[in-house]
This record gives sequence, C-alpha cells and structure tokens, in this order.
Amino acid sequence: MTKEELWKAVLGEMELSLSKANFTTWFKNTSILANEGTSVIVGVPNGFIKEWLENKFHKQILTSIQTFSPEIREISYTIGNSLPQSNVKKDFSQFITERVFENKQPADINPQTNLNKKYSFDSFIVGSHNELAHAASSAVAKNLGKAYNPLFIYGGVGLGKTHLLQATGNKILEDDPTKKVLYIPSERITAEIVESVRNKNVEELKSKYAKLDMLIVDDIQFIAGKEKTQDIFFATFNELYGKNKQIILSSDRPPKAIPALEERLRSRFEGGMIADINTPDFETRLAILKLKTKQKDIALDENVLGYIATNIQKNIRELEGALNRIIAVSQIYNKNLDVKEVKKLLATYLSTPYKKTTPQLILKSVSDFYNISPNDLIKRSRKKEVVRPRQIAMYLLREETKSSFPEIGQKLGGRDHSTVIHAYEKVKTEEETDEITKQEIVLIKERIYQSFDK
Ligand code: ADP
Ligand code: MG
Repeated sequence: MTKEELWKAVLGEMELSLSKANFTTWFKNTSILANEGTSVIVGVPNGFIKEWLENKFHKQILTSIQTFSPEIREISYTIGNSLPQSNVKKDFSQFITERVFENKQPADINPQTNLNKKYSFDSFIVGSHNELAHAASSAVAKNLGKAYNPLFIYGGVGLGKTHLLQATGNKILEDDPTKKVLYIPSERITAEIVESVRNKNVEELKSKYAKLDMLIVDDIQFIAGKEKTQDIFFATFNELYGKNKQIILSSDRPPKAIPALEERLRSRFEGGMIADINTPDFETRLAILKLKTKQKDIALDENVLGYIATNIQKNIRELEGALNRIIAVSQIYNKNLDVKEVKKLLATYLSTPYKKTTPQLILKSVSDFYNISPNDLIKRSRKKEVVRPRQIAMYLLREETKSSFPEIGQKLGGRDHSTVIHAYEKVKTEEETDEITKQEIVLIKERIYQSFDK
C-alpha cells in the first residue's frame, strides 16, 4: 500500500464517522508526507488543524491507520504539504468546501481598474427592485459625465450594488478601452489617503485621481467620521466634477442617513441622481436563480428553485450561496435533490424569522462542537481549550439572539461587557478573514438549528 493509498483509506474511515462538514474542516488538504515503516508523518495545512488532529483525532487516526498498516506505532503531524495536489484524491467533502468558498478565491481582477470581469450588465437581472438604479447606470455608461453626475446608488447588503457599479465600469471600458476608470471601495480610498498623508504625498494621490474619466467609490458610508479623508475626497470630487468626469458612489443608506458626513459632501452627493435598490420580488429571485444555474450549466428541479426563491428573500448573495450549496451536494450524490432534502440542507440559510433559538441551545451546541462541557464556558478558566469556544459562544449569542453585551456577559459567568465586545469583534473579523473559523461557525449553526427539527 503506498502512503497515498493508506491515507485515502484512513480518510475514508474518518469520513464515515464524522459529519461531512466536520470532516472537511479537519481533513481537507491533509496527506501522509512520509511513511517510515513504524511511523508516519501527516502534513496538515495549518497550526490550528495540527493541534486539533493531535488533541482530538489522534487516537482515532492511529486506530484507523493500524487496521490497514498494523506495524505503524507512531504518527506525527507537521504543517505543510509537499505532495503535489493531483496525488490526493479529491474527496467529496473537499469538493463541497471548494464550492462553498469559491466566491472567496481571487478572481479575475484588473489591477489597473480593480474591476472584475464577472460583473456585467448581461449577468444582471433587472426587476422592479433595481429598475431605477439599473436604468441610471446604463445611462451613465452611455453618456459618461453627462447623464447623471454623481450617480449615488444605495441599498442593503447583498442586493447588487457592487455588481451594478462594476458592470458600469466594465461597460465603459468595453466601449472605449482608452478611458481611465477606477473602482475603489471606500475603505481602500481611506487607506490610500491616510498613507499619502503619512508619506506627505497627498498632491500626488490627488493628481492620480484627477486623471480619471470615472471614479467609482463603493460603500462610501465608511468615510463617515473620517475628517481628513472627507477633506481630500471633497477636493477630488470637485476636481473631477468640474471637468465633467463621472463619479459613481454606493452606500448602504441614502446620503442624508449617513452620520458624521460633512454637510458639503452630503449636498454634493445629493446633487446628482440618487437611486435605490430594494429587495427583489419572488419572480426576480427565481430569474436570478435560473440565470446562475444557466451560467454554471446545471439543471435543477423547478420546485427546488422555487423553494429557494420562496425562502431566501432579503439578500441575493445568500440566494447564490444557497444555490451553490445545493449544486455541490447534488453533484456529490449525483442525483437531483428533492424539496425535502433541500429544506434540510438550507436550514442555516433560511431567514424565516420564527426560527428562534435560545441561549441554552447555543451554549450546548458550542460546547458539544468543541467537546467540552457547557459549564466550562461559564467557569473562570482561561485554558486555551475553553477560551476560544467561549468567544465563539459570545459571538453567536450576539448574532443569533441579539442579546445585549452585558446580558451575554451575565450568561457567561458574570463577565464584563467589554470582554464580550472584544470577543465578538475578534470572532467577527476572523469569520470574515479565516476559512476555518467561518467553517466552524457554519457547523455550529447547523447544530443549533438542526436540533429544532428533532
Ligand atoms: P452589494 O454590493 O449590494 O452588497 P453585490 O453586488 O455584491 O451586493 O451582490 C451580491 C451577489 O448577488 C453578487 O454575486 C451579485 O453578482 C449577485 N447579484 C446581485 N444582484 C443581482 C442581479 N440583479 N442579477 C444577478 N446577480 C445579482
Ligand atoms: Mg458591495
């Protein structure tokens, strides 16, 4: 048995004993790097996984390895993977993870313009919820700087603002590649400005922006309260505007609802066209799902699409996420899922409001997941095995029950609210930036919400 075959066999056994998602979390991208007769070295992607395999799964892995290779007495774990990927069989769970996270992979982004080709008008479904914003953007794309300036688009998260802004930029360049277009999220523009102030080259930065034919600033609400940024942005805005250069802005709310926005900027933002994007109606949600399945060249049952469209209403990104998940699973089992199966699969996505959880259930799900007792979460212990689960529990209590920070502190053994806030923010950032954390939270939520169906 080669070391690849051996590990494949072990993974097969582990996969049977764990939930699919759990298996993926801990065993994705692991391999046997060396088999030295009585000992093997297992390569893992990071330190966190190394620790978990060593502490939680070691016995099970050893037992499993010994059923195939009884002479092995010892396993060590090391970070890294010197095996070429193609040697590792792509297991189903790995496949799911890739699917679920495919949106996170670095995409085809033009470094000059920051525009991503995948956002186009062709791939944008127009419905009554975004009709105005779409019409205004198309007009801008046809008549740069002259139709509506600035164009200000606002709406909630995941409703298509970025898509529309980028589609407009892409269209301009498609029609005239000599045009200078820049797409920039406002956090980035803030960072550039802060940097230029520090390096004393503000003028250079201003003249870089001043050369543009179109400046697109996404999520402009984040410049609220940042005086220096607003100052420099105001100057840039005026410079471009004065030359009839196009400015497009997006925000999660209208200009008048952005707090700590200087009056002079607010009135500039209100001086052009303001268009909102609302939540899509059922027909539009269904049309979006159909378009996405077509793009992926996949046929899904009409009832299944209808089920998703009925149940995910507020966020198109979630709509897509749910679809990706269903596609992945139906490919894995190589069959069409029926509505009942889809319902189960989407339990964590569903935004139906009556699905309420309780703090007890959250604490139980977290402690079960980390294999500790609910009491450990409450006790004063600062041991590493409980500190992190406790922080995750605080985060989930906040997100899933909307309890106040002091209330959460109370529930967890009378901790100070500032401790809770710190934990909440730490986990939130990790959830956004770290795949493992994100995956863990999905898994814990699955536990929380699945226990309702029982
Ligand atoms: P926002 O910037 O408003 O948070 P995004 O533009 O990032 O939202 O949209 C979230 C996801 O939904 C993206 O993948 C986007 O392509 C998709 N999407 C949003 N609106 C539409 C639409 N009308 N047609 C097709 N896809 C859409
Ligand atoms: Mg966006």
